[in-house]
Amino acid sequence: MMSLPSILPSKPAIQDTTSTVDEIKQQLGRATNPEATPIFICALDECYRLLPSQKALMMHRKKDHQTEDDGWMITWNGATGGSGGEKVKEEVE
Ligand SMILES: [Zn+2]
Repeated sequence: MMSLPSILPSKPAIQDTTSTVDEIKQQLGRATNPEATPIFICALDECYRLLPSQKALMMHRKKDHQTEDDGWMITWNGATGGSGGEKVKEEVE
């Protein structure tokens, strides 16, 4: 079986002469945010299943864990206005 030597020979860095400007401009990835990419992870019983919404997570809970417990949820979307969500009211003086 082939394996790499524990010490790899060094060589001077050289300029990239094959990539085109268009290739460099092309996005390989991008930063996202909670609004564009909702993330809900079921942390119940070390499940760690990733789901796209709180609703999907609760459906998964009911089906796969036989519970409607809404704890043990990892998300960056904050309160989602479900039963536990608190509506913000504007106070008029
Ligand atoms: Zn789960």
